[in-house]
Amino acid sequence: GKGLGKNTYQYFTAQMNIAVKRRMTLESALRRAVMQKDFLLHYQPQINLETGEVIAVEALVRWKTEDSGTVMPGDFIPLAEETGLINEIGEWVLREGCRQAKEWQVAGLTPRRMAINLSARQFADKAFLDMVTRVLAETGLAPEYLELEITESQVMRQTDGMIMLLNRLSEMGIHLAIDDFGTGYSSLSYLKRLPIQKLKIDQSFIRDITVDPNDTAIVVAIINMAKSLDLDTIAEGVETAGQLALLRSKGCRVGQGFYFSAPMSAEALYPLLKQNNLY
Ligand code: C2E
Ligand code: CA
Ligand code: CA
Ligand code: CA
Repeated sequence: GKGLGKNTYQYFTAQMNIAVKRRMTLESALRRAVMQKDFLLHYQPQINLETGEVIAVEALVRWKTEDSGTVMPGDFIPLAEETGLINEIGEWVLREGCRQAKEWQVAGLTPRRMAINLSARQFADKAFLDMVTRVLAETGLAPEYLELEITESQVMRQTDGMIMLLNRLSEMGIHLAIDDFGTGYSSLSYLKRLPIQKLKIDQSFIRDITVDPNDTAIVVAIINMAKSLDLDTIAEGVETAGQLALLRSKGCRVGQGFYFSAPMSAEALYPLLKQNNLY
């Protein structure tokens, strides 16, 4: 009756207050983290599936906290995007990734590309291009060793402004990759308009690739489409020897995943980069 309705209402109000408070606490903690630069990057190698060589590394951000340990990007990037904090976090990630790539080169390691993830909001920022130019100049990393990853869903909302920005980045010599590819159903004609070099096949298609013929068919279609457009393909989320063998047999050139290496700190990755070959 009426009483129950009221209780239910009060219950939901209380729950909502808890949710709102949690969000506010999280948001102010994230703001503090941005000021104090309480982040770190882990790096995951990308492997040439023919030779086993490490051809690039992807930088993946983590948030260092005192109470909750290391917070994974899935637990704070969405809030960072909503609040706009992603622009500052993204700049820190870019600078730290470029700095690390340059440090590895100076230390004598084979020069490799550093792949950095971007959010839509960074792309929409008018100061983005200048920021990238400045970070490359400050860190001394040559633009051809920087790769920017943009998700397929972001690219699908493409505007003339975005295409112009992608063209400018590409003219600078920066590589562009489409992340989570296959989840957005982009068409061939549409991809041809973009100055990209690489498609990263989403890990959801790789997971069951050896057992689900639909997934195998999708991955083969992506590999062949990429070939016809003269694009590289990289398979994400490679976890088993079986997945690796199948991908190689279908002509996928590059892979990334736990089978080769989990994302790890720069120090932990150094010996693998020095050894260069993961086969
Ligand atoms: P993503 O760009 O698709 O990155 C791949 C994610 O899959 C990473 O999770 C990685 O640790 C994980 N992964 C790698 N190999 C395997 C595997 O073999 N099996 C499985 N199951 N997973 C694997 P992570 O580090 O938690 O990052 C999650 C997402 O957060 C990323 O997905 C990316 O969208 C976002 N992200 C990470 N760093 C940044 C950043 O600096 N900026 C922005 N805007 N987004 C970021
Ligand atoms: Ca990525
Ligand atoms: Ca991805
Ligand atoms: Ca993903």
